[in-house]
Amino acid sequence: MASVTDNLARVKEAISAAAIRAGRDPGSVILVAVSKRKSPAMVREAIAAGQLDFGENYAQELRDKMREIADPRVRWHFIGSLQKNKVKYVAGKAYEVHTVDGLELAREIGARAEREGTRARVMIEVNVGGEASKSGVDPEAAAGLVEAVRGIAGVELVGLMTMPPFEEDPARERPYYRALRELRDRIRTEIGEPAALPELSMGLSHDFTEAIAEGATRVRIGTAIFGARE
Ligand SMILES: *Cc1c(COP(=O)(O)O)cnc(C)c1O
Repeated sequence: MASVTDNLARVKEAISAAAIRAGRDPGSVILVAVSKRKSPAMVREAIAAGQLDFGENYAQELRDKMREIADPRVRWHFIGSLQKNKVKYVAGKAYEVHTVDGLELAREIGARAEREGTRARVMIEVNVGGEASKSGVDPEAAAGLVEAVRGIAGVELVGLMTMPPFEEDPARERPYYRALRELRDRIRTEIGEPAALPELSMGLSHDFTEAIAEGATRVRIGTAIFGARE
């Protein structure tokens, strides 16, 4: 099996190539290495290879890994569904929370971040595929939530995130990624702020080139770097 170091090199090259094909600056796409259920040793191997952005899905696992790795250069991204009673493990600690799906959660994150003397960078998760099994707000409700979250003092709303329905053929996921970008563009017009919501968190191991073609600024890649999860 290829090493984490080799995998990272391959993925980074593919990200750059996809950005260049899309006429974009490769530096505009941040690779978030999804380390959920992978050992601290594997995370350290990735850090040694220069990777400093990591994504975690479970609040306590994030807390434990942050403690164990304890490297101030690392930026931890929270990408799982977050219950209000777990916000204390995440807000004011993670670099970004990609998965805000309601006003109450956003308020809790904001309150906690303020207590920690900071502002939490967050994204709103949108359920572009309308699947019952997926979290995220409906696209129709996104603009309203954006406006409300922008009014919360402890929160800096930086963008939108989505997890599309799985398709064997990644080209069939591209319409969902396009839909997220177009939704973002409509919200910008609606709120009269052409530079709002700069970040789009979209794209996984098997489809990140499609997401980059549609404007992703965060790709969340686990399997292609760390191998399959148990
Ligand atoms: C697990 C996970 C990923 C990574 O998926 P891979 O297919 O392993 O790259 C990305 N985003 C979210 C929200 C995840 O839960």
